[in-house]
Amino acid sequence: MKISIDPDLCTGCEDCTEACPALFKLGPDWIAEPVVDVVPPELEAEAVKTAAICQFEAIEIQE
Ligand code: SF4
Repeated sequence: MKISIDPDLCTGCEDCTEACPALFKLGPDWIAEPVVDVVPPELEAEAVKTAAICQFEAIEIQE
């Protein structure tokens, strides 16, 4: 599983980084970015849950 974030949709609201700092961080341009290249199996459910809280639908999960 991988996480991608659409920089055109992300507003840097920090909802994802606060909900799951193990997987999401803010980049220098205040756009969220994934912490890891591949989501560890034990964090996959958390990744899906956190993607769903992005009110701007900027987070995409690739299986
Ligand atoms: S919750 Fe969505 S809009 Fe907010 S920082 Fe994360 S990816 Fe960006």
